Amino acid sequence: MSQAQIIDGKATAERIRAEVAVEVAALKAEHGLTPGLAVVLVGEDPASQVYVRSKGEHSKAVGMHSVTHLLAADTRQDDLLALVETLNRDPAIHGILVQLPLPKGLDEKAVITAIDPAKDVDGLHPMNIGLLAQGQKALVPCTPLGCMIMLSDALGDLTGKRAVVVGRSVLVGKPIAQLLLAADCTVTIAHSRTRDLAAVCREADILVAAVGRPQMIKADWIKPGAAVIDVGINRVPFRDPVKAAAGKTKIVGDVAYKEASAVAGFITPVPGGVGLMTVACLLRNTLTAAKRIAGLEA
Ligand code: NDP
Repeated sequence: MSQAQIIDGKATAERIRAEVAVEVAALKAEHGLTPGLAVVLVGEDPASQVYVRSKGEHSKAVGMHSVTHLLAADTRQDDLLALVETLNRDPAIHGILVQLPLPKGLDEKAVITAIDPAKDVDGLHPMNIGLLAQGQKALVPCTPLGCMIMLSDALGDLTGKRAVVVGRSVLVGKPIAQLLLAADCTVTIAHSRTRDLAAVCREADILVAAVGRPQMIKADWIKPGAAVIDVGINRVPFRDPVKAAAGKTKIVGDVAYKEASAVAGFITPVPGGVGLMTVACLLRNTLTAAKRIAGLEA
């Protein structure tokens, strides 16, 4: 049985970061412009701390100006909004990312809406979501952008392909569906109320899983040769009873990777796939925002 070609998130993310670094150096040399990214973390959620540290390190590594604001979990809404406003006005900052989720008591929607859409490198401001829905130039959420880069690398032109996206969240499912539509795919969005999900998935030339259910998508849900993009990040106990008893966990995707690899044409592993693209795409969005704000976009 032939095995799917693995779409390597590590190599692709490295390439994106290298491309961004080259462009950042050129912007500095030719226009005296250094793209700047501000990341705001409220509270001490350990996973968020890891993500925020990684964003800061990677942005510095590609030559960007990088600022991290660490705020206490009991920060007031007004103070957070005031910080966002300061960053909106700061000419050295071209990208603002407020790490989600915010602690209880803070209004995420209000905070995201307060970010200048031109600096909204997470692509979650209603203005950017609306522009994306209209098929216009927008800042696109990082994970969906990463998925599209991986698909284009693997398949080239996506025109006319049948795409099924399982999941309809604002953060992942919906923007991926919009991007696939913009790439001239015929798109179906499936969700928890979809009838006969397996049959819907089997129609897909491109199957994107953004569900949050460990290994839900089985081999017999996949059309032979399809490209399978697994966005899911699920922490599960080890099968090995010794490791499980020690409370050890591992990360798996929404796709039953091993069996799916025997049917799919292309597949992203978890870990090592889409997850690694998110920060690379954040850097790319920051570069894009800096160029657009300075009127330098080709
Ligand atoms: P949400 O929980 O916001 O959305 C999940 C979606 O899956 C919903 O639309 C839900 O349907 C649908 N769903 C749930 N159960 C089923 C089911 N049994 N059958 C069909 N559809 C179902 O999650 P996110 O979109 O934020 O994230 C999805 C996954 O992607 C998670 O594992 C998350 O950790 C991961 N993720 C990975 C990122 C990365 O960098 N790689 C970034 C962001 C997320 P309904 O709307 O009907 O409830």
